[in-house]
Amino acid sequence: MPRKIAAGNWKMNGSLASTAMVEALAKAFPAPECEVIVCPPFPLIPALVNLNSPFTIGAQDCHFSESGAHTGDVSPQLLKEIGCGAVILGHSERRADHGETSALVARKVTATQNAGLTAIVCVGETEADRDGGRTLKVVEGQLAGSLPDGTDPDALVIAYEPVWAIGTGRTPVNDEIAEVHAAIRDTLEARFGGQGKEIRILYGGSVKPGNASEIFAIANVDGGLVGGASLTAEDFGPIVAAA
Ligand code: PGA
Repeated sequence: MPRKIAAGNWKMNGSLASTAMVEALAKAFPAPECEVIVCPPFPLIPALVNLNSPFTIGAQDCHFSESGAHTGDVSPQLLKEIGCGAVILGHSERRADHGETSALVARKVTATQNAGLTAIVCVGETEADRDGGRTLKVVEGQLAGSLPDGTDPDALVIAYEPVWAIGTGRTPVNDEIAEVHAAIRDTLEARFGGQGKEIRILYGGSVKPGNASEIFAIANVDGGLVGGASLTAEDFGPIVAAA
């Protein structure tokens, strides 16, 4: 069984004072059973790396180039140099707010893995997709489009995040989560063979201390990608313990 993951996506939250939260978490989990990944906004990455905690520090996006004329962008090589271990790619907020397509995400996956970082690739249906019975089709289409030829399964994590569950307090029922995760597993095994069994598939969308254990016990759920509840040690601690 691959090690579970508790990943925190701080989004555009946090400040220099947030290092205290990670310090508290590291004190509570000096040798966590699961892999803990904390993804703050770019400027906070060095401060969190410098804590030398047992956690992986990740980014929330990157560019697909090593360097060049791309104002406002950050390369995966620089992220690697400053101590990052992972990058979230294709989050629904980037797909919606920045028009990111699966084709663009695929280029970022290649660049991220070439830089020696793990790509955490997000997929998930909108509420209209789910109501229209298109959930599996949408998720499988995003997966096919976001994972380029040459994707390294050893540096890949998938996060299934139904868009309508993000930040809403609503989650799919367990059977719905199980159905999508099983479909993702099938797709990964068809693509990567035996290695597809080892790829961690996270659930994301309103994971809280109160539902984490139940969700993480569902077949093919290898942990969670957590937004709002990753911002305080009080909330994120129990989720790390559940993973
Ligand atoms: P949430 O966000 O936990 O606040 O719903 C999850 C995410 O967007 O990764």
